[in-house]
Amino acid sequence: MPRRELLRNVRRIVVKIGTSLITEKGLISRKKIMRLVSDIADLRKRGYEIVVVSSGAISAGCGVLQKDRRFMSIPEKQAAAAIGQILLMNEYRACFKKKGYEIGQILLTEDDVKNRRRFLNSRHTMNTLIEMGVIPVVNENDSVAVKEIKFGDNDTLSAHVANIVQADLLILLSDVDGFYMDLADPHPVDEIHKIDEEILSRAGDSESIHGTGGMLTKLRAADIIIKSGEKMIIANGNVAGVLGRIMNGEKIGTIFVGKESPLKGKKRWIAFSANARGSLIIDEGAVRALVERKKSLLATGIISSDGKYDLGDAVEIKAPDGTAIGKGIVNYSSEEIEKIKGKKTNEIRLLLGQSFFEEVINRDNLILY
Ligand code: GLU
Repeated sequence: MPRRELLRNVRRIVVKIGTSLITEKGLISRKKIMRLVSDIADLRKRGYEIVVVSSGAISAGCGVLQKDRRFMSIPEKQAAAAIGQILLMNEYRACFKKKGYEIGQILLTEDDVKNRRRFLNSRHTMNTLIEMGVIPVVNENDSVAVKEIKFGDNDTLSAHVANIVQADLLILLSDVDGFYMDLADPHPVDEIHKIDEEILSRAGDSESIHGTGGMLTKLRAADIIIKSGEKMIIANGNVAGVLGRIMNGEKIGTIFVGKESPLKGKKRWIAFSANARGSLIIDEGAVRALVERKKSLLATGIISSDGKYDLGDAVEIKAPDGTAIGKGIVNYSSEEIEKIKGKKTNEIRLLLGQSFFEEVINRDNLILY
C-alpha cells in the first residue's frame, strides 16, 4: 500500500533516537541533536503531536568520565547515566528552545508500566505536556533500574511509550536503513505485517558500542506495535530531513503495519505490560467459552489456581494441559478463588455474600494469546 495512504490518519508520533545519531566519538554532539530537533520541530509545526524517546545518557556520562562503557560495571553505568542524563537534556532543551519549544523530562522503568496506576499517571503527564505544546523527552531511568525492573533497551521502551500515549506511529531512528531479509540485497524490506520466526532469524543482532539495541530489539518493538494495531518505521536518522520525508509518504526504511483489529486501551496494557501474579487452570468447557464464544471466565470452569494475587491483579489463564491461552485481571483474590473454584454462581453468592462478582475475569479485562 502507498505510504501516504498508510500514514494518512497519523496524528501522534513517538520518535526514538538512538545513541549513535547524537554522539560524535562518544561525546554528545549539539550539531547532531540540532539537526534532528529541527526535523521534529517542523513536524510539530505541521500539526503532528510528538513524543521523543532518546538514548544517549550513558554515553554522555562516559564522555565526562572518560571511560569506555564496554569495560564498566552496572553501578558504574548507572552512575554514568545519572551524570549523562543532565547533559543530554541540557542539549535537547537548548536545541528545542531555538525552535520555540519547551521540553519535559520523563524517566521510566519497566516497573512503571507494569503498574496500572503508574502507567496511567505517566499517560496523564505526557498528555498534559502535549496539550501544553511541550515536547516530552523520555528515557529509561537507568540510574535506579536494575535488571529485574528494566526494559534494558530504548527500542522496547519506545514501544511501551507508544502504548502509553496511544501513538499512531513509532519511528525508530538509528544508523540502519531498515530491516533486511538478506544482507546481500541492499534494499530494506518495504512493508511487514507480522513478526514470524523467519523474520526473527534474519535479525542478526549485534550490540553497537554506543547503544544497547540491535535489530532484534527493534523487531520486538515492532511485534508489540503490530499487535497493538498501530504502525512503526525503522529508518536511518542520518538521512537529511528524514522525518518530514517519511510523513510526506516517501518510501524510506521499513514500515511495520499493525493488525486491523487492534487491542483497545486497557487490553493493550494487559497484553504487554501487566505482570501475571498467578495462574488459573480452567476446564475444556471454559476454554471453549473463552476462545469460541468470547465469554467471560466464571468460577465454575476453574480447576486450580496457583500463586498469590489480589483483586485487580493479572493472572495467566491455562488450558487443562498447562498451555497458557491468555491473561486477565481477576475480580477475586487467590484465597477467594480457592473457596469458589468449580462452584456455580448461586453457591458463590451464598459463600461470599456482599463481595460477589458474576465473573472471575470479565471479557473486557481479558486477552487471548
Ligand atoms: N537508556 C540508555 C541511555 O540513555 C540507552 C539504552 C539504549 O541504547 O537502547 O544511555
